[in-house]
Amino acid sequence: LFKPIDKISALLELYPKGMAGFKRFTELMDQEPDIKNRPDAVEVPELKGNIAFHDVSFGYEENRRILQDLSFSIQAGQTVAFVGPSGAGKTTICSLIPRFYDVIDGSVTIDRIDIRDMTKESLRSNIGIVQQDVFLFTGTLRENIAYGKLDATDEEIVEATKRAHLSDLIASLPDGYDTQIGERGLKLSGGQKQRLSIARMFLKNPRILILDEATSALDTETEAIIQEALTELTKDRTTLIIAHRLATIRNADRILVVNEEGIAEDGTHAELLANENGIFTKLHSHQHASIY
Ligand code: ATP
Repeated sequence: LFKPIDKISALLELYPKGMAGFKRFTELMDQEPDIKNRPDAVEVPELKGNIAFHDVSFGYEENRRILQDLSFSIQAGQTVAFVGPSGAGKTTICSLIPRFYDVIDGSVTIDRIDIRDMTKESLRSNIGIVQQDVFLFTGTLRENIAYGKLDATDEEIVEATKRAHLSDLIASLPDGYDTQIGERGLKLSGGQKQRLSIARMFLKNPRILILDEATSALDTETEAIIQEALTELTKDRTTLIIAHRLATIRNADRILVVNEEGIAEDGTHAELLANENGIFTKLHSHQHASIY
């Protein structure tokens, strides 16, 4: 399940040996030494979030392309769900946007600017990632939440906590925000970690959100709470979801079906299902066999 990620050396001390990395990519987008700023890269201000891939080719290894001549665009504010078989390249597509890797051919633009012409820092300040494996460090809940915005005020932290549906947890703890978490402190459940990560995103407030949906099941109630928080989080942002849940897929503005060929289908839920022989229609009918 865990793919090797080699770019978080600075964080490894925080993890028990043998867990040398997050699954796929990290929320912390400042640990990528390979990608350098071009000498003439510009600091971009807040972006609108119109994303376009122009004939993008990419592979991790010299002679194996994962993406070939891939083109699509996403309008600012849209929520797009990527679905398709495991290994098709959904995560790879999303990891090109914060420039965890650079394209080999073609380009990725945001608001018509090639992302290689932006400084990595200003690009990444516009992007937030929520994923299953949440980065937590030994410290208080407050410190961990404030990780989304290091200079957040107490009011901002309280507001983000509320919007992430984490207030009840805080209220139930004798030390509230000052509760220590981590190895010797409180252990958070999977659902609580996800909400903490969502609280960070409310603080960070990025224009673009990448959501790597959990494959493992949460209980129905937790799932509903997280869904509610995410629905609010994705509002007014460009959101790309590596989707595994039918509810997410149904509510997305658009669904992109990714397979070995590239983007095989692109449309709304209803549009894709109208194609009786379509890949999505087949995936959909197999949802309970966990094909997403
Ligand atoms: P899943 O649904 O299982 O998450 P996916 O559609 O997100 O799959 P990717 O994770 O993008 O697919 O993987 C696409 C291909 O790239 C796979 O063949 C995978 O093995 C390969 N791959 C992914 N990450 C790396 C990496 N860091 N180094 C080498 N190959 C990789």
